[in-house]
Amino acid sequence: MAEEKSYKYVIIGGGVAGGYAAREFSNQGLKPGELAIISKEPVPPFERPELTKAYIDLEVNPTLAKIYVCAGTGEAKQYPNWYKEKGIDLIVSTEIVKADLASKTLVSDDGKIYKYQTLLIATGSTNIRLSEIGVQEADVKNIFYLREIEDSDELSLAMELYVQRGKAVVIGGGFLGLEISSALRANNHEVTMVFPEPWIIHRFFTAEIASFYEGYCANKGIKIIKGTVATGFSTNSDGEVTEVKLEDGRTLEANIVVAGVGARPVTSLFKGQVEEEKGGIKTDGFFKTSVPDVYALGDVATFPMKMYGGMRRVEHADNARKSAAQAVKAIKAAEEGKTIPDYDYLPYFYSRFFNLSWEFYGDNVGESVLFGDNDPKSPKPKFGTYWVKDGKVVGVFLEGGTQEEHKAIAKVARAQPSVESLDVLSEEGLSFATKF
Ligand code: FAD
Repeated sequence: MAEEKSYKYVIIGGGVAGGYAAREFSNQGLKPGELAIISKEPVPPFERPELTKAYIDLEVNPTLAKIYVCAGTGEAKQYPNWYKEKGIDLIVSTEIVKADLASKTLVSDDGKIYKYQTLLIATGSTNIRLSEIGVQEADVKNIFYLREIEDSDELSLAMELYVQRGKAVVIGGGFLGLEISSALRANNHEVTMVFPEPWIIHRFFTAEIASFYEGYCANKGIKIIKGTVATGFSTNSDGEVTEVKLEDGRTLEANIVVAGVGARPVTSLFKGQVEEEKGGIKTDGFFKTSVPDVYALGDVATFPMKMYGGMRRVEHADNARKSAAQAVKAIKAAEEGKTIPDYDYLPYFYSRFFNLSWEFYGDNVGESVLFGDNDPKSPKPKFGTYWVKDGKVVGVFLEGGTQEEHKAIAKVARAQPSVESLDVLSEEGLSFATKF
């Protein structure tokens, strides 16, 4: 007979949402043995965004211990012992391969059976592979993706190995592509970024914001090739990549290739058992799914966006943390016959690379108004953008801001004040937010 264990609560996925959900369970009151976190990864939950930041900076060379959750919010870090002290079963290196939501049963890759009363799905996202977007020979050596700690460790090793003659090509011009390119460059690799869009982080940045970051990267020596895609690779006799072939006929020398071509939510275990929307698992404002006693958090959840209406799925750490807390609070309140307010999320994204750091709050819709100094050659560039829809400021981006200024732009994005005209907003710049 297969070994069977029963828990009051099971979280599938030991990532950002899983870690922060455990924290909230502990805050709300948890008895030893009530909660299990089952994670495919071999390590306790950590702040995944650090994989492309401090964690691959060979000079900083931080240990995993520095980035365990809840490092991202400045609360006490959850070292492996934390889970033991709280009586939480942290079951790592274990993949759930079957989930039967009707009988509340999970089966792991080592054949064990886990029963639960309440399930929290926190399976996150998986990277889209180059082969899935039609790139040939995508299984050659020294092509890297970043998602798990091992990915960063492997890339760091390659970076050390090739540091004398490192030629890196980064495929993809999104958040990850930009952060990875800067990390490689900061570690003395020659770097070329390749992406099909007309500018970097095209889905989110305006052309003006992008021109600053592209100019800054160029000044640092990163080469950017736009409007074409990688189609395949050449290798040496050891099967290691030597060249990236581009659709426009060019080839780029490379001994390291990093792909950041998008991600998709990990929902396959639950297909046909739970309602889905926009590629994720549909939830209400408490992260409750269509199946009783089943919640979905973080990257996999498509939830009602109270501020803007409609349903959204958000692949960012802040939502992973906050959705986890909301779900656990809702679970605990329901047990006491109480309710809590609906999730009222203000979107918040951030990124850091080289000496740059930006934050964004709100919605990037409507007309955009640039303010400040976005000259990439400035010694201390500081600029931002407001998004204005129907005469109201709905989103604010700021590069180089202070903590106080970040609080101010968050407040504006939440309050959505009316503006007289876009010209006035442009003239007032950041002071519009800080005086608010
Ligand atoms: P994850 O943190 O991805 O965790 C999912 C967990 O579920 C993993 O442990 C996985 O192994 C596990 N799992 C999946 N399937 C199973 C299964 N069947 N059985 C057991 N375990 C399973 N966001 C930002 O806001 N800012 C950033 O700067 C930023 N940088 C990023 C850099 C990188 C390299 C990456 C990959 C992401 C970055 N993000 C950033 C996004 C952010 O990390 C995610 O939004 C966040 O991690 C989502 O949390 P999650 O818990 O939903 O998923």
